[in-house]
Amino acid sequence: MASDGDRADRAVVLGAGYAGLRVAHEIRRLSRGSIPVLLIDRSPVHVLRTELYEVGAIAQAERTRRRFTLPIDELVRRDGIEFRQGAVEGIDLDGRSIDLGTERVPYRSLAICLGNVVAFYGIEGAETFTFQVYRYSGAVRLAEALRELEAGSVGLPPGRRPRVLVIGGGSTGTEVAAEIATADWRTIADPMARPPEVLLVCGALPFLAGLPESLVRHARRQLYDAGVVLHEGVNVRKLTAGRAFLEDGVELPFDLAVWAAGIQAPPVVRALPVPHGRGGRLKVTEHLELVGRPGVFGVGDVVEFEDPKTHMVVPSTAQAALAEAPVAAANLVAGWSGRPMRPFQYRERGVVVALGVGRAAGRLSRVTIWGSPARLLKSLVQREYASATEKGRPPTGL
Ligand SMILES: Cc1cc2nc3c(=O)[nH]c(=O)nc-3n(C[C@H](O)[C@H](O)[C@H](O)COP(=O)(O)OP(=O)(O)OC[C@H]3O[C@@H](n4cnc5c(N)ncnc54)[C@H](O)[C@@H]3O)c2cc1C
Repeated sequence: MASDGDRADRAVVLGAGYAGLRVAHEIRRLSRGSIPVLLIDRSPVHVLRTELYEVGAIAQAERTRRRFTLPIDELVRRDGIEFRQGAVEGIDLDGRSIDLGTERVPYRSLAICLGNVVAFYGIEGAETFTFQVYRYSGAVRLAEALRELEAGSVGLPPGRRPRVLVIGGGSTGTEVAAEIATADWRTIADPMARPPEVLLVCGALPFLAGLPESLVRHARRQLYDAGVVLHEGVNVRKLTAGRAFLEDGVELPFDLAVWAAGIQAPPVVRALPVPHGRGGRLKVTEHLELVGRPGVFGVGDVVEFEDPKTHMVVPSTAQAALAEAPVAAANLVAGWSGRPMRPFQYRERGVVVALGVGRAAGRLSRVTIWGSPARLLKSLVQREYASATEKGRPPTGL
């Protein structure tokens, strides 16, 4: 296996998502360009993942594709960050090198920002019979399948509409269900398309668990207006083609199902011989460093960070990833110059959940907002992130 051993004196950042891209830029900025940075991602594009619930817009295909992805090379070139496309197959923490399959990449400092993968929890049929939006390729497949389903709805028996089941009552499932129910399928698929019947199967956890009560109340009302029906309190046990079996014996027929019920750390991260939290996420110190591994940091969804003061676990959000990134980068740079590190403290700026085309509900400080103003705010924040990222500026929102 090839090795570029002469380049060991550099920082390597794994993953060019919200966390990794920001960490790479911050290392260059804080070290005034003196620390060489190699950024590695299996994909050539940075995915605007917080927008992947917009399946109606994705279904309108090619012309919107650029809206959901940005070419990594263009985003990092001007900062002198080297980008290499490759899939991380192994991380050797003792030997301080990364296995990319065809080559071995040594590092002096490392930031692991590999996000997450979907978790099916061993539920029979879940992987085979559902679509998902956690990755761009999955969201595109879902959007195409929905467009086909809607185009075919014209031939259904009278009174019958396409049945869509969304499994997972967290914010991802809720956003996807509302978007499917309110997208303009007559423009997207066929002028005679029949709007889908959308059922959101929330599982045993409460609907939108962990979000403020006022937001949840508005979300329920807006989902009702959008025609989304909630099925609460019970988990899916098994899926077959066209049928979901719940733990209480209820069977739900469907034409298309979406899995939005959970995420876990990627296998390469779960395999690391270090302390792990829920779903194999990496446990990190208050400096976002891996326990017992100086110079190796974890940032974003791949990490389980428990605030030492509140004992609350920081949520797996882009907002948290972007808050962690400058602190991890500063601590990595401090390690090179022997300066002290600073602790990470998380303060959530607010949360906004999309509830169908043109609608949302959110909570900012102590203020609840809903309807079209909330959706406008969400769109502005998303656009600001994309625009700042394209210009190489730190984003202010999300
Ligand atoms: C539909 C949806 C809506 C969301 N809405 C919001 C929202 O409104 N606000 C919010 O704050 N958060 C939201 N989130 C959550 C947010 O998207 C994540 O928290 C965020 O993407 C985490 O950033 P990250 O950098 O840790 O991971 P990611 O953005 O997933 O980046 C991980 C990167 O690692 C790369 N990678 C993974 N494995 C490998 C490998 N083996 N080799 C090479 N590269 C690899 C991937 O290609 C990817 O580029 C939403 C998520 C979804 C799915």
